[in-house]
Amino acid sequence: MLNIYNIVSKKFYPLDCFSNLKNSLDIINNYKYKRNFFPFPIMFPILKSDEVKLKKKNNIDIFYKNTKICNFVIDEIFNYNLKKKIKNIFFTNDIKHPGFMKMNSPDNLYLSGNIANSKEEIFIQILNTKKFSFVQKLLKPMNVVAFHSRNIPHLGHEWIHRYCLSRFETLFLNPIIGDSKNDDFSERQIIKAYKKYKNIFPSKRVIFYPHYCSVFFAGPREALLHLVIRRNYNCDSMVIGRDHSGVKNYYEKYAAQKLAKKYKKKIGINIEYIKEPYYCKKCKMVTNELFCRHSDTFKLFISGTNIRKNIIKNIYDERFIRKELFI
Ligand SMILES: [Zn+2]
Repeated sequence: MLNIYNIVSKKFYPLDCFSNLKNSLDIINNYKYKRNFFPFPIMFPILKSDEVKLKKKNNIDIFYKNTKICNFVIDEIFNYNLKKKIKNIFFTNDIKHPGFMKMNSPDNLYLSGNIANSKEEIFIQILNTKKFSFVQKLLKPMNVVAFHSRNIPHLGHEWIHRYCLSRFETLFLNPIIGDSKNDDFSERQIIKAYKKYKNIFPSKRVIFYPHYCSVFFAGPREALLHLVIRRNYNCDSMVIGRDHSGVKNYYEKYAAQKLAKKYKKKIGINIEYIKEPYYCKKCKMVTNELFCRHSDTFKLFISGTNIRKNIIKNIYDERFIRKELFI
């Protein structure tokens, strides 16, 4: 549903459909969709048991919880073993990678085609969000830096936000909300925390708007997709910090920054490469290596996953998160 929404609302521009095998391979191998830069394949896996039924049809209606969201005009059903490309997309050979497991069709079958008879308004109602063009127009005249996250805002994030506000007119808080893992923060927790959090700052300088999108945990390559989306939002720059869109220990801390640096000109957005903030026991504050000279022994790294675990156990630590967000 979320992939369809992002194609319909043009957040994935230039991607305008679920691409066929040729175009999907061009995205995977060359980071290109119809001659334009596009970094991440958006695939529609299907099961063998549905193949015969789908082959008889030119188009199908797609529903989300009894609401028709679009008519899908079938271009082709293609057979492809995505395992051959797992290394290119996820930079790993591990077929247990959660992003690969989500994108992979167990029967190697995928559907390509165009989305017809769909309006962004349908998704806006389902998701209770605003029109993409509304946010684009809002951000266009401003000097904006975007911030992406899967967690509620902690003091490490706040350090990044204050750093960004010292350099940009506007901070666009745009956390991702989607079909994430069970041990991630819930949609309700993220929205509630960000709504409270943005009130800390001058109202005109910080804009909060949740970004509804599938989560692939694909680290560096997904970071490129996030940059394309924020360019489409009309942001001038975006923060890429430690282990962007990573999962477990699949990626090096700054692998996403490295790949983003390589492609930023093609994408057409600037990047704020930020080194991880931490709590320093000597400085007695959240800081990062730009401002602190102390050795690793004194550093306490701030993890969203640990904060989530501590919220469940009701263990509060003022060094990592504001009390009012510990909910
Ligand atoms: Zn220090």
